[in-house]
Amino acid sequence: MTGPDKNGKTGEEPEVSYYDRMAERTAELLEEGRKTLDEALQKAKDELSRAGGFTAEQADRVAEWIRRDVRQSADKAAHAVRQAVEPQRVVAGAQSLLARILTGTADALNDLAQKAEQSLEFKTGEVTSAGSLTCKECGAEMHMTRTARIPPCSKCHKTVFRKSY
Ligand SMILES: [Zn+2]
Repeated sequence: MTGPDKNGKTGEEPEVSYYDRMAERTAELLEEGRKTLDEALQKAKDELSRAGGFTAEQADRVAEWIRRDVRQSADKAAHAVRQAVEPQRVVAGAQSLLARILTGTADALNDLAQKAEQSLEFKTGEVTSAGSLTCKECGAEMHMTRTARIPPCSKCHKTVFRKSY
């Protein structure tokens, strides 16, 4: 058994680095093959839970954020995978961790893409990967360059967003 990996940088929110670690592990598991997205996510969650430092509720919440972000980007990625000559082009076009997850789960992409058509909501206080968030209230855009906790809209202070890459 290994101890918890405290590789968070100073000032970085624990759940933000937890998101990245869980997404990284999920990507690795998918790259090893023989797992669906749900199986890989579950295993990554179990492993990180055993390492300690977070409650089961936090682990579930972070896993749901990752699942939501994968779904959100699935329609774009599905298109990219169909057209891709090489995986690198997919990675270049999307946030890299999610791209790795999506490349590893190509079979499920059509299903994911259908679900992504229902527009997913992103709310203030949740953690999400890099991308652009558009306020549903006023249309203002926020650009996130890395995984982070979603702030309120800088313009109208509302808390519900759509996301695009
Ligand atoms: Zn707004």
